[in-house]
Formats: sequence, structure tokens, C-alpha cells
Amino acid sequence: MGHLRATFMLPRMRFATDLAIMCVFDGLLAFFAILLLVYSFRRRIQHSLRQQLIARGTPICLHCGYDLRGQTEPRCPECGTAFDSSLIKPANGSGK
Ligand SMILES: [Zn+2]
Repeated sequence: MGHLRATFMLPRMRFATDLAIMCVFDGLLAFFAILLLVYSFRRRIQHSLRQQLIARGTPICLHCGYDLRGQTEPRCPECGTAFDSSLIKPANGSGK
């Protein structure tokens, strides 16, 4: 009897296991696809956010994102990228 039950159950169990493996595999595939997509657009997103910060008056390096407040020379101390010296001029009406 046990043998009959085992042969009856085996195909269903195998199907369930295969389905579970497929679901996990598809989930991982989707996860890595999204990760790849985000990673490939990361540079563009970073650049866009840095441009928006500069436009709003926060002087940061476009290349590495280093905060350039207080710099006296128009060169990023973090990555060495030259930048427009007008970025580090004191803003109008903001103290000192
Ligand atoms: Zn930099």
C-alpha cells in the first residue's frame, strides 16, 4: 500500500517542487533584471540629482558629489575634477 501511495504522490510532489524552483528562479531573475536596470541608470540619476542640487545653490562636485562649500580653488579635493569657480562664490544674502 505504501508503495502505491508513493508512486501516486511522486509526480505531484515533483510538479510542486519544480513549480517552487521555477518561482524562485523567476523571482531571482526578475530581481537581478531590476538590479541591472537600476545600476545602469544610476550614473544618469546621480548626475541629474547633482545638477539639481547645483541649480538650487548647493555647490557639489558633478563627478563625485563631494561638498565643495568652503573650497578656495576651483578643483574638487576628492577627485581632482575642475569645476566652474562661480559655484564656490558666496551666495547672495546668506550670512558672511
Ligand atoms: Zn569630485
